[in-house]
Amino acid sequence: MSKKIAVLALQGAFIEHERLLATLGVTTVELRQSQDVLQSYDGLILPGGESTVQGKLLRDMHMLEPLREQITQGLPTFGTCAGMILLSESTTNDRRSHLQTMPITVKRNAYGRQSSSFITTASVTHVGMVPMHFIRAPYIESVGSDVEVLATVDDMIVAAQYKKQLAVSFHPEVTDHTAMHEYFLSL
Ligand code: GLN
Repeated sequence: MSKKIAVLALQGAFIEHERLLATLGVTTVELRQSQDVLQSYDGLILPGGESTVQGKLLRDMHMLEPLREQITQGLPTFGTCAGMILLSESTTNDRRSHLQTMPITVKRNAYGRQSSSFITTASVTHVGMVPMHFIRAPYIESVGSDVEVLATVDDMIVAAQYKKQLAVSFHPEVTDHTAMHEYFLSL
């Protein structure tokens, strides 16, 4: 049976994730309001965008607590860029935190302004070489116990996994390289 993946669709690059998953034959459902989280799904994607806006909307729409509960209960979850910030336990340069289900500390906008966004290719454990688009990206400053570091770029952690939570600083959904999503689906 084909997998069904929920994509948080409050703000940001959710359509790109849906398109990429469609090429893999995966069904997606958009989470826009609290009743949407009552459906059953096999995994959750938290897209890139603006973590402060997404965090505020998650609270306003009463979705923060139920999603935190589902992730803590073991729902496989993939956070990209702002999605990584939502998952992080703490942020060094922002006093706000959101879902806080993953024991990582991140630094927001760590590569500077939009103009300093860049593309590179690096190896990701379990996945292989992956093209990485960084757009005002965060990186992981430190990880708690049981967090596996999956990739570094310039000695900074840009991908990590904790149980079934996967977080990356970059945007795999803007490429046609599907390996990161396939790895997530394997969780
Ligand atoms: N700079 C954004 C933030 O701090 C993340 C950027 C992105 O998701 N591309 O939330």
